[in-house]
Amino acid sequence: MTEPAITLRTFFERAHEGQLTAVRCGACGELAIPPKELCPACHAHEWQPVQLNGEGTIASFTVIRVAPRAHAASAPYALAVVKLKEGVSILGRVIDIPLDKLAIGLRVRFRPLVSADQTSVGFGPA
Ligand SMILES: [Zn+2]
Repeated sequence: MTEPAITLRTFFERAHEGQLTAVRCGACGELAIPPKELCPACHAHEWQPVQLNGEGTIASFTVIRVAPRAHAASAPYALAVVKLKEGVSILGRVIDIPLDKLAIGLRVRFRPLVSADQTSVGFGPA
């Protein structure tokens, strides 16, 4: 019996608790994060949750100087694509790393970014 695939909601609930969760396709082994409806590689729907350890390196980043209104107060800030140790990449907001210290290959660690009504993915110093 396979476990029910984790939903985006579960993903963010776990993220809120500091745990980063990916899903692995039971059909082809593809790892995906955040959870998707169907496997992008083989279109199967046989996900199994995989606990990630949250460590990774910056694969690319961009500094947001003019932010959308909801984030205007925190600009400038950086968004980074982080390649996790397990091999998947995810976009997250950079926290507690000076913008001039950002570099491709910098080691970072997952940190939930919790605001009043939502949790999003953040990465801080490893
Ligand atoms: Zn698959």
